[in-house]
Amino acid sequence: MTRKGLSVIITLLTLLGVQTPMRAYTLEYRDSAGVVAGRWLTKPIIVSFSISLNSPPPNIKAGSDVIGAVRNALEHWAKVTDVQFLETSSTAQTLSSHNAGDRINLITVSAENAAAFRASESPGRTRVFYDSGGAIVEADIALNPNQPFSSDGTPGTYDLESTFTHEVGHLLGLEHSAIIGATMQPRQAMNGVYGLPAFTQRTLSADDVAGVRALYGSRVGTGSISGKLIANGLAGGSRPIFGAQIFAEDAETGKVLGSTVSLASGEYHIETLAPGNYHVIVQSLEGPVAASDIASTGGQYSSLIESTAFRSFMANGPSLSQLIAVTSDAPVSLGSFVFTNPTPTLKPQVIGMNGELSTTVLPLKGGKTFRIYVGGEGIDQIATAGLSISSPLIGVVTDSLQQEEFDTPYPVISFEVTVASSVQPGDYSIRLQSAGGEFTYLAGAITVE
Ligand SMILES: [Zn+2]
Repeated sequence: MTRKGLSVIITLLTLLGVQTPMRAYTLEYRDSAGVVAGRWLTKPIIVSFSISLNSPPPNIKAGSDVIGAVRNALEHWAKVTDVQFLETSSTAQTLSSHNAGDRINLITVSAENAAAFRASESPGRTRVFYDSGGAIVEADIALNPNQPFSSDGTPGTYDLESTFTHEVGHLLGLEHSAIIGATMQPRQAMNGVYGLPAFTQRTLSADDVAGVRALYGSRVGTGSISGKLIANGLAGGSRPIFGAQIFAEDAETGKVLGSTVSLASGEYHIETLAPGNYHVIVQSLEGPVAASDIASTGGQYSSLIESTAFRSFMANGPSLSQLIAVTSDAPVSLGSFVFTNPTPTLKPQVIGMNGELSTTVLPLKGGKTFRIYVGGEGIDQIATAGLSISSPLIGVVTDSLQQEEFDTPYPVISFEVTVASSVQPGDYSIRLQSAGGEFTYLAGAITVE
């Protein structure tokens, strides 16, 4: 496929001669160069279970195994890194307030944390404290006492283990990911969306694993990709692009294996990628995950309010057959992309299945056919030939494309996909391409577990 018809000028400049020390992924950077990522230097990390976990408040469904959910959440991350958690208990109930850390890493579900959430509808929050060198010295996790929780998939409640797994990612130093299927994706779905329990965030995605391994553990045998994005011809002249999504998909399987968001300097780094051949896609963050969703608290993304609008492009080159080879021998530097790029006309906002639209990942199973929805500006301009899934084992069914009627300010289409029973677990992307050649991705919008 070509980008014929786009007046896009992408210049691959000389490769950067010097490798700066890199931190991958959407990490909680403490400096503008994206070198110092907040992380724990102490091992093991001692986590204090608040007594509230033993006698949870009424917003948590009676009989839910709160402690089991916390232990599983910690275990998911410990299993893929060299981080160890040591469990202890505390009579403390509330998050430490700003600038008043107590060096206790409290996990609490107490109703006394209502003030920390105020009007927030977020199911959980993690408050992280750093020392002057960027090391994490304390992190407290609280659940929102104004939101309902359960551990059994009860519709209209949040899944405890999913919420805790996401918050433990923040405790370890991760920011939000723009991969829709990632545990660190910013918006947790309630059980019942698409008529299903919302358990997918219990399972770490390859993207989550790459991110946490960039902070902890060995990088032996892994590779990395870095580069810089600069826009030309926009109001204000040439400037770096802050808040663009860059993600790497395995060219063979189509699986998303790592992603990041560009810094204010336009720089990006994706580390701890398995050696292999990749498609690297660069796009605006204005879809189901918005630029303003990335920063959880402070750090280098906290000033990220809006993404620069530009048309998605492939860093590997205009053809899908051009690949970026990642090896463990040397980092891959893509240099600076300088581009003048027209305003996108394809703007997917929502996905869906089972008659419902959402921004939640579509959980598909091997050996079955599903009707899936995509909605957003320009979506009705796409023909069947312009619809594809990144996995060669997930095919779009011929003649299944339909225009749908939903109460949305933009068009919604639906089409069927058949998932081969041999498809590997992981997150895959929906690719949309107009007849004019403009394309965009819903990155990691499909998960197979
Ligand atoms: Zn979060």
